[in-house]
Amino acid sequence: MKTYGLLGKNISYSLSPFMHNAAFKARNLKAEYRIFNLPENALGSFFEDMRKGTISGCNVTIPHKESALKFIDKCDDLVRNIKAVNTITSKDDKLFGYNTDCQGFIETLIGKNPGDLNFKSDGKDVFVFGAGGAAKAVIYGLINSGAKRIIIADIDEARAERLAQAVTEKENVSSVIAVVKDKAKYEEFISKADLLVNATPCGMKESDPPLFDYRYIHEKLYIFDLIYTSLTPLTKEATSRGAKAVNGLNMLLYQAGAAFKIWTGVKAPLEVMRGALLENIKK
Ligand code: NAP
Repeated sequence: MKTYGLLGKNISYSLSPFMHNAAFKARNLKAEYRIFNLPENALGSFFEDMRKGTISGCNVTIPHKESALKFIDKCDDLVRNIKAVNTITSKDDKLFGYNTDCQGFIETLIGKNPGDLNFKSDGKDVFVFGAGGAAKAVIYGLINSGAKRIIIADIDEARAERLAQAVTEKENVSSVIAVVKDKAKYEEFISKADLLVNATPCGMKESDPPLFDYRYIHEKLYIFDLIYTSLTPLTKEATSRGAKAVNGLNMLLYQAGAAFKIWTGVKAPLEVMRGALLENIKK
């Protein structure tokens, strides 16, 4: 029996075990997926276990996506650029790191399946709320898919500045990246944007104040809310105002499918995983 799991802190709410355990079963793999709720000072022994093969692979989430980097032997270009890892696999005493959030975002952004946005970023203006771990994956995905201009807004302005600077310093970035600090200017940029992305947790609770004045949602605006637990106030408002909107459910599913393929070499049974996700999201 192989062991996989999610490494993070205060993550008992996670839906990943439902998706992965259903996928292992559907593919007849003798494996289990568990929650590893660990503090920072336990990471060393956790990754030692992975090196020994006691744990074959893991996903990494808040708050360890950056601190896990120092335990990895090799990583792909994306992890190097984003400086955040969300999938690790162990092979011959070595640990390999990947970031499948970016892939999950892009597949949902350009995909044409139900729950995908079917949006082409090439030459487009994008407004991104948030400058945390998820926003990094989103912004790299947008740069790689040719977005013309990306505006970042985060209540932690310094964090937004650091992210904008970090991505602008990379080679071959032709997108214009800017930070908007003045809330009064949000609407001006949003009314010109082609795509708006919410990469903050704002909207998880119905009582959360809106990120911006919804009157500025126009019919040609595409909206991608990374929150996956429900149809958020933002997606509901967007749909009622004639804009196309999706939540983060497919992104969650696709990033998990990509991790499953990395660990097992087997194509993920996405529809089985979606079923497990939907069944448990409702509870
Ligand atoms: P994070 O690292 O905590 O980053 C969120 C950022 O948004 C923080 O800088 C936060 O500032 C800022 N923020 C909070 N409220 C804001 C507001 N009203 N206006 C502007 N900025 C605001 O979190 P994360 O890991 O990036 O995740 C963000 C969201 O994406 C979460 O809801 C998460 O569940 C979702 N997500 C979804 C997927 C998926 O597969 N669908 C994958 C990853 C993440 P403070 O820290 O100062 O509050």
